[in-house]
Amino acid sequence: MIPRTVPTWQHPRWQDELADLIKDPRELFELLELDLNLLPAATLAHADFALRVPRAFVRRMGKGDPSDPLLMQVLPLGEELDTSPGYQHDPVGDLDANPVPGLIHKYHGRVLLVAAGNCAINCRYCFRRHFPYQDNQPNRKQWQAAVDYIAADPSITEVIYSGGDPLALANKQLRWLTETISEIPHVQRLRVHTRLPVVAPSRIDDECLEWLSQHRLQTVVVLHINHAQEIDDEVRYSLQRLQQAGITLLNQTVLLRGVNNNIDALCELSETLFQAGVLPYYLHLLDKVAGAQHFDVPTEQAKQLRELMLNRLPGYLVPKFVQEIAGKPSKVPL
Ligand SMILES: *Cc1c(COP(=O)(O)O)cnc(C)c1O
Ligand code: SF4
Repeated sequence: MIPRTVPTWQHPRWQDELADLIKDPRELFELLELDLNLLPAATLAHADFALRVPRAFVRRMGKGDPSDPLLMQVLPLGEELDTSPGYQHDPVGDLDANPVPGLIHKYHGRVLLVAAGNCAINCRYCFRRHFPYQDNQPNRKQWQAAVDYIAADPSITEVIYSGGDPLALANKQLRWLTETISEIPHVQRLRVHTRLPVVAPSRIDDECLEWLSQHRLQTVVVLHINHAQEIDDEVRYSLQRLQQAGITLLNQTVLLRGVNNNIDALCELSETLFQAGVLPYYLHLLDKVAGAQHFDVPTEQAKQLRELMLNRLPGYLVPKFVQEIAGKPSKVPL
């Protein structure tokens, strides 16, 4: 059963929450009482890749602390405008694996649908920060081409909604797409890669739970959480509802300098995830996307962190440390 009881806090409609994102660097600086000397650089970096963050996420940040691990993920910085050799616009080779608009088929057995171009949040390290979404936001007719592609290839057993953030779309569109895909007999699993249940937990409403769980496909939701402080009671409640609807919950994390590249932060994240019903799946090394070089963690340090995690945690709480290398048939273990 899906619980329908309303928790004690005021639950906003997600549509209102997404219409009321913080998009002005000055507003963020004022809300969090940040040093205004950093504002001119933030404004410049914002012109390159816009600031975008839900208020529910900002409420979990500390005031007056430019090194808050949640703030660091969204705050535009002057460093983003530096160029660094080896940092590219399409670091993972997505533009070469795009057989029909909105569909990426890189790995055996699964295809990724770029279901929505936008996100509720703009993460500064996003590997899609330069992705040409305008060419990859199909309407229903173009969706049909993606559906036909899947239907024509019996090796495809799993369809992944990704983006952007697929849950930025309306439930109505997602219901249509999911019903259409579930009619393809060889598709067994539906996977949704999303950060919305974390950054705007009201997104998991009754309608969402319905289209997500009421079909024959096994369903996996892969969240994107980088730090334990991202998980508050509102997030726990939405995750609990997903779990009670029979959905498997996994998490992927990006290893980010200054945010989570220390053993205590990583162990606390795994423990907090598991308490919330989520298993750690992947820990990604940063994709070398232009503008994110200041987040990079050297491979040697990543290997040491993995050792330390293995020494401290049960095996099922240690995520797979992986890297995406263009042209490889899977994510590549470190
Ligand atoms: C990461 C990714 C997947 C999923 O890979 P898994 O290892 O199954 O999690 C599928 N398609 C693309 C294009 C991807 O980038
Ligand atoms: S949620 Fe994912 S796709 Fe969206 S901006 Fe963040 S990293 Fe990029």
